[in-house]
Amino acid sequence: MKALRRFTVRAHLPARLAALGPLSTNLRWSWHPETQDLFARIDPGLWQELGGDPVRMLGEVSPDRLDALALDPDYVAELDRRAADLDEYLDRPRWYQNQQAKGVDLPTGIAYFSMEFGVSEVLPNYSGGLGILAGDHLKAASDLGVPLIGVGLLYRSGYFRQSLTADGWQAEHYPSLDPQGLPLRLLAEPASGAPVLLHVAMPGNRVLRARVWIAQVGRVPLLLLDSDIAENDPELRAVTDRLYGGDQDHRIKQEILAGIGGVRAVRAYTRSMGLADPEVFHMNEGHAGFLGVERIRELITGAGLDFDSALAAVRAATVFTTHTPVPAGIDRFPADLVRHYFSGANGENESAMLPGLVVDRIIELGREGDPSVFNMAHMGLRLGQRANGVSRLHGSVSREMFNGLWPGFDADEVPIGSVTNGVHAPTWAAREWMDLARRVVGPDLVEEARGWERLHEISPGELWSTRNTLRAQLVAEVRRRVRASWLERGATDAELGWVSGVFDPGVLTVGFARRVPTYKRLTLMLRDPDRLRAMLLDPVRPVQLVVAGKSHPADDGGKALIQQVVRFADEHDVRHRIVFLPDYDMSMARYLYWGCDVWLNNPLRPLEACGTSGMKSALNGGLNLSIRDGWWDEMFDGENGWAIPTADGVTDEVRRDDLEAGAMYELLEQQVLPKFYDRGADGLPGRWVEMVRHTLQDLGPKVLASRMVRDYVVGLYAPAARAARTAVADGYAGARQVAAYRGRVEAAWPRVQVVQVDSSGLPDTPEIGAALALRAHVRLGGLAPSEVAVQAVLGRVGPGEELSDVVIVPMTYAGSEDLGELFVADTRMPLSGAVGYTVRVLPHHELLAGDAELALVATPAG
Ligand SMILES: *Cc1c(COP(=O)(O)O)cnc(C)c1O
Repeated sequence: MKALRRFTVRAHLPARLAALGPLSTNLRWSWHPETQDLFARIDPGLWQELGGDPVRMLGEVSPDRLDALALDPDYVAELDRRAADLDEYLDRPRWYQNQQAKGVDLPTGIAYFSMEFGVSEVLPNYSGGLGILAGDHLKAASDLGVPLIGVGLLYRSGYFRQSLTADGWQAEHYPSLDPQGLPLRLLAEPASGAPVLLHVAMPGNRVLRARVWIAQVGRVPLLLLDSDIAENDPELRAVTDRLYGGDQDHRIKQEILAGIGGVRAVRAYTRSMGLADPEVFHMNEGHAGFLGVERIRELITGAGLDFDSALAAVRAATVFTTHTPVPAGIDRFPADLVRHYFSGANGENESAMLPGLVVDRIIELGREGDPSVFNMAHMGLRLGQRANGVSRLHGSVSREMFNGLWPGFDADEVPIGSVTNGVHAPTWAAREWMDLARRVVGPDLVEEARGWERLHEISPGELWSTRNTLRAQLVAEVRRRVRASWLERGATDAELGWVSGVFDPGVLTVGFARRVPTYKRLTLMLRDPDRLRAMLLDPVRPVQLVVAGKSHPADDGGKALIQQVVRFADEHDVRHRIVFLPDYDMSMARYLYWGCDVWLNNPLRPLEACGTSGMKSALNGGLNLSIRDGWWDEMFDGENGWAIPTADGVTDEVRRDDLEAGAMYELLEQQVLPKFYDRGADGLPGRWVEMVRHTLQDLGPKVLASRMVRDYVVGLYAPAARAARTAVADGYAGARQVAAYRGRVEAAWPRVQVVQVDSSGLPDTPEIGAALALRAHVRLGGLAPSEVAVQAVLGRVGPGEELSDVVIVPMTYAGSEDLGELFVADTRMPLSGAVGYTVRVLPHHELLAGDAELALVATPAG
């Protein structure tokens, strides 16, 4: 018989153990091994069995055991220490508060929206890198004391769990989660204590309702909206059923709930806690972009602003991060679908969901070349005054990709910057490393994940023995998982004797684990199976390879790739040296990052926006062997791993794969394996350990999420908060001013003209550095000279007259003449060779983030 419904009933804790409650529900335990020890001590066997989940532990342990622990003075003393430590972690001023104490002007709060959050495997609310990154962002924000509020959805069954069929095909399961059994509490009305119920109007006079769960991630609350409640009709109940499941209609409802419901959840939360409203809103990818239209609605109905002023205020306070390097990866909806959800009950232009807004203006925010399409990334760029990609290379790819939104500008002037992703050290570094770091750096710095570079002070012998310990742990975990997988595939224990000989703790271990979209090229390693086999089976210097990854359930191509790897790994001669482990998730990933000597990544450049798994490996002294894509493009230095040469320009895909696979094999054979197996008199692989040491020292500080979050605070959140305050002050005077300016500039722009440009002062044969006096007459279509920037642009001239390596020289206003307004500049020839210049006019306003912001530019005709 199957249960119709399930509940989780929490145990009643003896009074003396009450502190276990908050210690189990604050997810800080997930990156705090001492707190984990406290729970493990309750019942080590059960702890293992439950996969290290404190809430389930307290649910399943016997009351007798708890009573016994309550009388154990040693245990309660340790409990008190852990509880005091958590309190201290939550209260003590940290980096953010110290900055504020020094007078640095920082936002009162930041709301961070993402469709997935991977905080811990006990809350499987993520599918891959994007979610894990969001989880790491919250944890690092907590460590640094950044007043962040996370906002997303709680999925009834999260992402699927993967297993294999006997013939190596991916099978998917969707275990359903019971929120009561998770480390969550409901957001309640402060007065009545009743759960807060959010409403979002749906077409046909329906209402989508959601309750709000709070996961406490250290100091940071994560608000997760849940539509699976009796008050909704069955279709709307299912809105939060699965992550990335369902069709476009299902997905837009999820995004409406996350964006619009999400803002309402933030308001309910700050009201209930008596907190200030967040000054900054951060969209982690475009999915939650509708948050901007809800905030426009608030300003129209609450503050009486017009649409354009509200848009200006919202833009000032919004940061948009794009994670997608290819147009095909961008989230798009049919414009009619957006219209369906946002227009009035009978198709009127006035929105029923967002009273005060007209649907045409909403559609306009997501406009792209094809008017039948609504583009969530374009909406993100139109709603966010500040935007960024997630590595330097990805920033530059994004500027190219979105150049069309800034016609007339070179790609490198497109106002999209970059903040390179990072990873949360206390989550991803093995305990062994954290303990060593605490010894050489000190506890405080480790909490904020600083001082990592000092790990190089550890002796080579200790570095190497730590690597060996971690590799041995991985080998045990690999055997455990291979056995479990074979049992699931229908084998019996009697046939699985060979599994205890799978992997060898002394053999060079290479890891490859990630989602399985085509561009990540899971099977590149199988390009030449004989060459791979020879490496695996080399009698003197063998390699062993652990592979894992999930394919999107709808992607049969991806599943076929997995099957190809599984079939190879099933072959009897190599099965002790190569494994495919099903169900890649955080709990498995950890062992891989800890134990692998080499982390392999071979995407099609430049399709990996950043990639973070290699960073996690590096934190543990793993060496990266990777195509120079994403983060590796900017951080590879020749000593911290190996760069697989990319055949970037080769358009024939088969040839490109052949070339890159060949280069990868060669690196392994010629460089990686010899270094690993070349042992000195002391038994250590000296050159290898030197690379490990260099990796920890050089990459350690750069790959940290605490570095990333500080970059966001300093480079994006603080400027956005300043812009937002100016927009809001004096009854939104700044927002109105920007909106009025923007309106006037857009109306005037067709009449803005560079009429004539003259130069003087140059000799017939100028040399580099020669003085150049420029005069330009421009017509401003009614704008004042102070409302524009006129610039001379000097640079190298290419065959098509295009300028490159440009130098921009501001021109100053020198009075009004018949020919137009005169602007002048004195400069010098910056380059030798074929050099040219032009003059251009841009809108300029002190409340804009830059002169390119409005995507308007006038250059001389012809
Ligand atoms: C880090 C991580 C990812 C993302 O890794 P990429 O390098 O971005 O592919 C995916 N899944 C899990 C479980 C992770 O820990």
